[in-house]
Amino acid sequence: MPDLKVRAAEVNKRLKKRHPDAHIELDFMNAFELLIATILAAQSTDVRVNIVTKSLFRKYPDPAAFANANLVEMETDVKQTGFFRNKAKAVINCSKAIVERHGGEVPQTMEKLVELPGVGRKTANVVLGNAFGKNVGIVVDTHVTRVSGRLGLTASADPVVIEQDLMPLVPRKEWTIFAHRLIFHGRRTCHARKPDCESCVLNDFCPSVEITADRPSPASSTGRSARAATPSSASPSQSRTSRSPRGRKPSKSV
Ligand code: SF4
Repeated sequence: MPDLKVRAAEVNKRLKKRHPDAHIELDFMNAFELLIATILAAQSTDVRVNIVTKSLFRKYPDPAAFANANLVEMETDVKQTGFFRNKAKAVINCSKAIVERHGGEVPQTMEKLVELPGVGRKTANVVLGNAFGKNVGIVVDTHVTRVSGRLGLTASADPVVIEQDLMPLVPRKEWTIFAHRLIFHGRRTCHARKPDCESCVLNDFCPSVEITADRPSPASSTGRSARAATPSSASPSQSRTSRSPRGRKPSKSV
């Protein structure tokens, strides 16, 4: 465990320097909008969700408007995000629950959030960390799963277990931003199919540095990885210029 803590601290430190602007990439103006955007983001991209929510939040400006929406119309409204039938049902039912059980306000606890239809622990963590500034857990999405596995910070591919593995390794006040740093790194350098290890700032101690496009190795490689070297004092490789996607209007609450 001490070795893993050292490694996690080094990862956090270097990624902070590499991605000083790491942030949530979904657009939102309040907790409710973030909740809806996060539900729609499942199996989709933040860019696509931001396109859809731009008009969606104008058409349905609050939880009551979503709760009273016509299901078929909502399916059309969210179609571009994929899995639109389930998502339309989820955002309407979630909004109904918020209106009926919580007076139109998004609850601010993990327990109450995960009781809402369509809301799991990952979505709740996104809302708590980014809309309410509460570090209750660590968001584990596909990027956090892949990158933390390759770095040997977890030996599991199960998001629930990964979150439990990561939380003791990082100071609680850093949980939300740590996930953003891993996600930024996963999107810009540690790609799923072809990680850019050559330019990666973690390549001098990453136990998966040798993986190539021919040998994609997500979390499954971590049994070996977790026993690999801890960070050395060697200087990390020079990194490329950041390819931050910023350019959209930043989210209000982040
Ligand atoms: S060295 Fe390669 S596998 Fe390891 S974190 Fe960097 S990009 Fe990912």
